[in-house]
Amino acid sequence: MRMVILGAPGAGKGTQARLISESQGIPQIATGDILRQAVREGTPLGREAQVYMDRGELVPDSVMIGLIRERLSCEDCANGFILDGFPRTLEQAKALNALLSDLGKPLTHVFDVEVPREELLKRLTGRRVCRQCSASFHLEFNPPRQEGVCDHCGGELFQRADDNAQTVGKRLDVYGEQTKPLTAFYRELGVLTTIDGTRDIGEVRKEFADLLGAVSTKQG
Ligand code: ADP
Ligand code: AMP
Repeated sequence: MRMVILGAPGAGKGTQARLISESQGIPQIATGDILRQAVREGTPLGREAQVYMDRGELVPDSVMIGLIRERLSCEDCANGFILDGFPRTLEQAKALNALLSDLGKPLTHVFDVEVPREELLKRLTGRRVCRQCSASFHLEFNPPRQEGVCDHCGGELFQRADDNAQTVGKRLDVYGEQTKPLTAFYRELGVLTTIDGTRDIGEVRKEFADLLGAVSTKQG
């Protein structure tokens, strides 16, 4: 299974990608998480990316395409992967297609999780993320069992610097301008499935499971 999950910031990509990764045994590759780790470690990539991330803008395509090329060549991707947060521009999508077709391993699924802007604003401003394992929680919609503590690894939950109202607005605008057009690109390629992301986490999870089950059965 080689999968892309598209959707605006806050649509629930990371939440669902983690669940699919656990059930399918393939890695979740979240470019935002990779960049945040690089920022924490103060690497050259982190120093370059931070400027864009703080402004709610996209990190340049050349940087992101190089990063993904390297990550997909890792052994844990041999049996598949879930891309969460990549591609975000047409140039990234085209580069990904070229890379995968060179490997003879094209994408098998592209999902677009749709959620209206008002709901995205609530999800992003109430989001809390684990410092250790990057799991995503929500103060109201998906609270951890113990306040401030990750259910999965016991790590500390924090609010992302870019989940403030001002940067969130910018990120949603950037999504509309640069990333939303990818749905037409993948629809034309005949691989796009749209998912109603407004339902609760369990219901969206079930739809993914049903769709993936149906596809796996079809493919034998
Ligand atoms: P993305 O990876 O698309 O940016 P996340 O998976 O981090 O989004 O989810 C954004 C926020 O919304 C998190 O706080 C998460 O707990 C919450 N969330 C995710 N899916 C749902 C859902 N179906 N209903 C309500 N809240 C959700
Ligand atoms: P995310 O965690 O997916 O919300 O991403 C956080 C930030 O990381 C974005 O606002 C961008 O600045 C940067 N980023 C993550 N993925 C990409 C990408 N594929 N292309 C460009 N920038 C990205």
